[in-house]
Amino acid sequence: MALIVQKYGGTSVGSTERIKSVARRVARHHRDGHQLIVVPSAMSGETNRLLALAKEISPNPNPRELDVVAATGEQVTIGLLSIALHELGLKAKSYTGGQVRVLTDSAFTKARILKIDEERIRKDLAAGMVVIVAGFQGVDAEGNITTLGRGGSDTSGVALAAALSADECQIYTDVDGVYTTDPRIVPEARRLDRITFEEMLEMASLGSKVLQIRSVEFAGKYKVKLRVLSSFEDPESTSTGTLITYEEDDTMEQAIISGIAFNRDEAKISLMGVEDRPGVAYAILGPIAAANIDVDMIVQNIGASGHTDFSFTVNRGEYQNALDVLAKEKGKGFSAREIIGDNKIGKVSLVGIGMRSHVGIAAKMFRTLADEQINIQMISTSEIKTSVVIDEKYLELAVRVLHRAFELERAPQPA
Ligand code: ADP
Ligand code: ASP
Ligand code: MG
Repeated sequence: MALIVQKYGGTSVGSTERIKSVARRVARHHRDGHQLIVVPSAMSGETNRLLALAKEISPNPNPRELDVVAATGEQVTIGLLSIALHELGLKAKSYTGGQVRVLTDSAFTKARILKIDEERIRKDLAAGMVVIVAGFQGVDAEGNITTLGRGGSDTSGVALAAALSADECQIYTDVDGVYTTDPRIVPEARRLDRITFEEMLEMASLGSKVLQIRSVEFAGKYKVKLRVLSSFEDPESTSTGTLITYEEDDTMEQAIISGIAFNRDEAKISLMGVEDRPGVAYAILGPIAAANIDVDMIVQNIGASGHTDFSFTVNRGEYQNALDVLAKEKGKGFSAREIIGDNKIGKVSLVGIGMRSHVGIAAKMFRTLADEQINIQMISTSEIKTSVVIDEKYLELAVRVLHRAFELERAPQPA
């Protein structure tokens, strides 16, 4: 008998029919003798709808109230799923984040989980019940409802698995695992049986939204056994999806590149003709950090005649905010001939632990893009990834040609 946490995404609970199908899958695992905690998201499109309602009333809604609204999506699906399980003759009980006490900090709309009370859940499990916990939400120390950021139900699932030392956390979604890239963009993309934790962390942070990055971080910290699977397969199916592994072993695929991630959600800001002197980077990025804006890539050119150009990227949602901050600071901490921005950029990244020991990957990437006349605006590398910023127009083309050039559709041969 195992303790399993199953998280179901929005499409997987997108209709009452889909919810009944989830219930059948849960019932099958229960029948096999497992204890189950189930974490549903809101029905697909529902969180967007709720946030849009608030925006109809105010362009800038209070974040605390926004969370009160957004958290209702998951309250609907936990109740419906519990009812569906009752119909199948199972004992089940649903809880909101606040009822369990998924304690978070007070960073509304992007709260972090601090602690989960397990007592109530353990008691129910011991009584043979399926426990259903709302994803995406928690409660702060003052009892305010909080949400965990978009895609946050993944993190709810992993955090519950960590808190209860579950044997496995299964993320059920609308694809049957983690692919070499988003199969919606590249139909020949290949499902990976396994991916290392480090690679998954890079893929998630570089834009593959199949798992929320925080859920991967959480899984790594507590060594949660994490698996991505399809909820659209037959409930009796025994397919094993993609396992996120913590050790590289010899039986693993020996691919140099495991996958391609991409992100449209970026914007670039360039300061032309800033003074080339100590402290300038701080004078520019200090106020940006103080405004709570995350900076991703940074490029500073070699100076000429005492001046240089300085560029960085931010989340597209923060673009205007960042420009406003710089306009206010210009002439105070730094001077610049011109500040220009571009919010129509995208980032494409190759990810793979094999890059550590193989040279020439970046060169091949640049040649492939050059052959398509795609101009590279920025480059950033780490041990296991190479990222480039390009015009958003060419993003999907770049992903497709790189996937082909590195032959990611083909399974690598064991070494
Ligand atoms: P859910 O609602 O179940 O949380 P998401 O839409 O958040 O589902 O995540 C699943 C989607 O992630 C897939 O439909 C797919 O389009 C996308 N995706 C992006 N990159 C990948 C990848 N490398 N492998 C699999 N899916 C990916
Ligand atoms: N319902 C939330 C969202 O749409 C959380 C999730 O689906 O994981 O972002
Ligand atoms: Mg998701």
